[in-house]
Amino acid sequence: MLNSSLLQLGAALRARKISSVELTQLYLDRIATLNPELNAYITVNPDMSLAQARTADERITQGDASPLAGIPIAQKDIFCAQGWRTTCGSRMLHNFVSPYDAHVVSQFNSAGAVNLGKTNMDEFAMGSSNETSHFGAVKNPWNRDAVPGGSSGGTAAAVAARLCAAATGTDTGGSIRQPAALCGISGLKPTYGVVSRYGMIAFASSLDQAGPMARSAEDMALLLNAMAGFDERDSTSLQREKEDYARELNKPLNGLRIGLPREFFATGLSADVAQAVDAAITEYKKLGASVVDISLPNSRLSVPVYYVLAPAEASSNLSRFDGVRYGYRAPEYGDLADMYEKSRSQGFGAEVKRRIMIGTYVLSHGYYDAYYLQAQKIRRLIAQDFTEAFQQCDVIMGPTSPTTAFNLGEKGDDPVQMYLSDIYTIAVNLAGLPGMSIPCGFGNNNMPVGLQIIGNYFDEARMLNVAHRYQLATDWHVRTPSGI
Ligand code: GLN
Repeated sequence: MLNSSLLQLGAALRARKISSVELTQLYLDRIATLNPELNAYITVNPDMSLAQARTADERITQGDASPLAGIPIAQKDIFCAQGWRTTCGSRMLHNFVSPYDAHVVSQFNSAGAVNLGKTNMDEFAMGSSNETSHFGAVKNPWNRDAVPGGSSGGTAAAVAARLCAAATGTDTGGSIRQPAALCGISGLKPTYGVVSRYGMIAFASSLDQAGPMARSAEDMALLLNAMAGFDERDSTSLQREKEDYARELNKPLNGLRIGLPREFFATGLSADVAQAVDAAITEYKKLGASVVDISLPNSRLSVPVYYVLAPAEASSNLSRFDGVRYGYRAPEYGDLADMYEKSRSQGFGAEVKRRIMIGTYVLSHGYYDAYYLQAQKIRRLIAQDFTEAFQQCDVIMGPTSPTTAFNLGEKGDDPVQMYLSDIYTIAVNLAGLPGMSIPCGFGNNNMPVGLQIIGNYFDEARMLNVAHRYQLATDWHVRTPSGI
């Protein structure tokens, strides 16, 4: 059961080989055993999950054929879910119980999926290692001394350790793809605007996008079918025809043109990752693809540009956490200004405060033109590089992360080193493009390596096809950490 695809699970549920209650209980038992060490979940609520599973079983008995009906799925703790504690990994929201569902959560609910719990994450999705969570670091199931990546590290660890059938993540600068790579699972960040951000706690609104994290491309297609679609409650949600993301899964790859950006294979890429990515490209050639040398000259500026724009947006988004309406309030304070100051000082962790300070600085009068405006201009150049590249190729491939999973505590004191973990993923968010990571081998110390696949706008179905054909030909994605 634990290694079945979502389609197989759905079929087993409809054939009554297993009930949703039994399947949910199976995962809850695994969480009870493994989560104390892995710390992948912040909140589980067996009563609520099992109640949803009972409803799903009734739906299935009545002939509901929805492919996700009865399947237990975990939600990154950035998504508001009615009646569930929703912390965003922060002390600021440590006791916040959401009164409503995020769009993504309500989409899964109406598909009949079971919410298995809320997964751990970097505080307000700021981080690449999951170490900034107020609820403690998450351990990588492949090596408990290593980080799972971030910010969707709890989700990545939960999927890798079979603590859920699949789960959700969000990606502002790499937070779906990088932890997927480091934990040996598949993750997809869709085109900006494909999945509604309603009820997804905002970090940097022009970059944030939700997506599926799962064991295979085939599973992700099913999840994205449930997640995507127009929602009038998000002003950047795109009004497009409903599409079936699984429709191209089995198409042969003959004639596929893969662009390899020179800049992604230069200094900074560790040799073991380069080797696994090269082997994946060789496999693609066997499957009928050809490669094209391309250049993304401005991508080298993506990290500095991101660390101006994302903190700027974050400083504005996080101003709502003032201790007045919800969340943490300092127990003792003098006047109103003192209450704000103490609540925010005590409620936010160091990384969040650093971002608020940077963001406030780059937006302030006198620095706005020099930093914020300049970064916006370079953002446009970065996007243009991709537009030009896609005239020569159908998809772009490269490493997801420059290294395999690093050790807990290794980069904690050095924010710049940490920020460089996302050197290959951030440009994709700045351009609003879809990006994916799939497992493509193992590096030093037998830690998983991720292959990044970048598509043109709205090319998710093709990217899933490209990933699926590779997963039919290889078995990296079905490998399981020992002891799991
Ligand atoms: N690691 C990046 C950051 O710290 C990206 C995070 C994300 O995608 N949410 O901002």
